Amino acid sequence: MTSLQTDPAGEHRLLLRSMLGEDLVLTDADAMARYCRDWHGDVTSAAVAVLRPRSTDDVVACVKGCRDLGLAIVPQGGNTGLVLGGIPDAPERQVVLSLERMNRIRKIDVDDFSAVVEAGCILWELKEAIAAEGMFFPLALGAQGSCRIGGNVSTNAGGINVLRYGMTRELVLGLEVVLPDGTIFDGLSTLRKDNRGIDLKQLFIGAEGTLGIVTAVSIKLTPNPDQVATALVGLASLEDAITLYRRARRDCSDLMSAFEFMPPLAFTLAREAIPDLPIPMATDYPCYVLMEVSGSGLVDIGDLMQRFLEGVMEDGIVLDGAIASSQAQARNLWLIREGMNEGQAKRGVHMRSDVSVPLSKVPAFVAEAEKAIHDALPDCVCVSYGHVGDGNVHLNVLPSVELPHEQRLVRIYQSKTILNQVLDRFQGSLSAEHGIGRLKRADFDARLPDTKRRLLTAIKNAIDPDMVMNPGCQLNFIRKS
Ligand SMILES: Cc1cc2nc3c(=O)[nH]c(=O)nc-3n(C[C@H](O)[C@H](O)[C@H](O)COP(=O)(O)OP(=O)(O)OC[C@H]3O[C@@H](n4cnc5c(N)ncnc54)[C@H](O)[C@@H]3O)c2cc1C
Repeated sequence: MTSLQTDPAGEHRLLLRSMLGEDLVLTDADAMARYCRDWHGDVTSAAVAVLRPRSTDDVVACVKGCRDLGLAIVPQGGNTGLVLGGIPDAPERQVVLSLERMNRIRKIDVDDFSAVVEAGCILWELKEAIAAEGMFFPLALGAQGSCRIGGNVSTNAGGINVLRYGMTRELVLGLEVVLPDGTIFDGLSTLRKDNRGIDLKQLFIGAEGTLGIVTAVSIKLTPNPDQVATALVGLASLEDAITLYRRARRDCSDLMSAFEFMPPLAFTLAREAIPDLPIPMATDYPCYVLMEVSGSGLVDIGDLMQRFLEGVMEDGIVLDGAIASSQAQARNLWLIREGMNEGQAKRGVHMRSDVSVPLSKVPAFVAEAEKAIHDALPDCVCVSYGHVGDGNVHLNVLPSVELPHEQRLVRIYQSKTILNQVLDRFQGSLSAEHGIGRLKRADFDARLPDTKRRLLTAIKNAIDPDMVMNPGCQLNFIRKS
């Protein structure tokens, strides 16, 4: 028999298994490893156990069991988060609670343009099931084959379609949440309009698991946009990309669904990841935009894109352009965007950012930040790209591959500091869409105004006074009162 004094984690494992049953509790270190490692494999941790509930009632039992044992809970969806929000940081006192087995679609209601789904549904599988009913769920991001809707809600995920459909927050109609005291907040309504006082579900969206466990979500659907036109264009500058964006919003009747800017280096990086990737135009324009216009019904999307591009080329805003003439060609254009990410990963550890500034300030911000980083760190390369329509820039910094690992880590730290200084001058956000997690909490904390800190502390203390939910994530500054 193991003593609680000498092996508290071992004792807790035994107790969790006896309280919740073997089926719900993983304790084997090898089996737990994938839940305790971040997406990039940069950080490896451990946990007392991984709990894998199959139902909302199971989640309630898990929460009550952990409370009884004084264990904290780190909720986890697809574990694709990029800020270490779903990875434990106190292995002896925390369990991971994975929603992966709660993946049922409770209802797709074509007439009400809504669906009710469990938190563990993989985003892509959800989108496919909804598409099979002739409907569309617009949330779309690079991790959609692995991330889960509860994780998307908890990070208020963005992605490529935000400019038309909004962040996840704007796609959520209702939530079911298991609270830190084991009670259930049942807010799974599918009402479009409900102004009965403060909208409590908003508290849990973007909370990164610090206030409760999202177990089910009701979401908004739209008609499936069965016509999609995708184009890649080359431009003389990022300023021209912003001009193009404004013009597209107007000329395309707000039917634009994606607008991503990329530097010429995108092609080199994409080819490093996917060597035979076809590229339909010269690769030496100063800036590129990948844009998509989509719609359903009587509108002719192909004609709209064609006429729009002819107009902006005539006016000299766009220097060159290629419209995909098949789904396969459109897919290849998107592969440039995805391959660019993979290519950066292939060059080893690097500084990744996810910041936002007002749309009109994007060109000045990118120019100033890149210059400051080049001047201070000439052996680094900047790669700036992003969902430019939302003012969201990923300004990443790749240290020279010649540098030893420790030096690369120093460059990452230095470049992040410089970037944040420039960002502060532009009054931007250090997290446009990935959240705070554990990675950005110090930078978040350092910039938190007093009133916001007071309100966040009051909310956390009101809902989770015993700090059961994801301590160390996002709201690290809060202490037990
Ligand atoms: C290749 C790639 C591309 C990406 N692109 C984008 C992008 O374009 N836009 C974007 O916004 N993000 C992007 N991300 C980040 C990530 O995919 C999103 O943050 C996603 O929403 C996380 O979902 P998940 O299920 O993987 O959550 P996890 O990583 O498992 O968890 C994320 C956070 O939510 C909490 N959480 C998870 N599930 C629950 C729940 N049911 N209840 C309460 N808390 C919970 C966790 O504790 C953690 O704090 C990308 C990631 C990768 C790897």
